[in-house]
Amino acid sequence: MIQVTWTGAAGLTFETPDEIILIDPYYTRVDLFNTLLGPISPDEAAIDSALSAMQKVKAVIVGHTHSDHALDVPYIIQRSNAQLVGSSSLDTLMTLAGLPGRTLVCRGGETVALSEHALVTMIRSAHGLVFAGKVPFQGEIRPSATLPMKASGYRLGTVFAPRLQIHGISFLHVGSANFIEEEVQGYTCDVLFLCAAGWHKTEGYPHRLIDITRPGTVVLIHYDDFSKPHVKGTQTRKLPLLDLKGMVRSIKAQFPQKDVVVPEIDARMSLG
Ligand SMILES: [Zn+2]
Repeated sequence: MIQVTWTGAAGLTFETPDEIILIDPYYTRVDLFNTLLGPISPDEAAIDSALSAMQKVKAVIVGHTHSDHALDVPYIIQRSNAQLVGSSSLDTLMTLAGLPGRTLVCRGGETVALSEHALVTMIRSAHGLVFAGKVPFQGEIRPSATLPMKASGYRLGTVFAPRLQIHGISFLHVGSANFIEEEVQGYTCDVLFLCAAGWHKTEGYPHRLIDITRPGTVVLIHYDDFSKPHVKGTQTRKLPLLDLKGMVRSIKAQFPQKDVVVPEIDARMSLG
């Protein structure tokens, strides 16, 4: 049995009795004021409290290096000693954090063994359009930067949609509302995690992606207002202006047979 938990923004935790694998872990939830004016730093207490079984974390996978996907990663790697898979931009961030050589750098298409039962394929992907039809903070994290840096220093880097397989069950993580059709072609999955923020801004998203990857279950994530704290046990606060119900309706209209799940933050899903 694999317990999957959405932990806010694009963060997912995959837990089996033996190990924990994280994708885009982000617990700090920097507020809007600091996101705009920075510099920003990981909230170590928040990370420690969320990841009490830090030693069980065997791998961390990062889809791109914006701050809501990568800010907390150096601290988690330092504490857990987990294997890290991501882009060359992530490798630069790790070097800035005093952890050079810790990233298995992917360019797209690589399959990496994470443990006896888990592997990940790093499918090249694209970032959703955020403000005024643009992708924010493009390019790579600069080697000349110093930490702590502003959110704008956490540049995009290569974007991946990691396809994780654990005990033969496949999970495709789309952490930003876009995709590259030629890259994802040929990959199917049992469970598809979809970024909801900005879903209506990209043509073919998410319907074409669902068509290609043929999941049994679709789980919507990255719909929370991640500039606000999440209080355990309370309802997830949605991003303002996000038509989440419209996204569910739009998927269901074209794929009435699919299960579409909208989890609360920290709610465990038993899959597999
Ligand atoms: Zn992003």
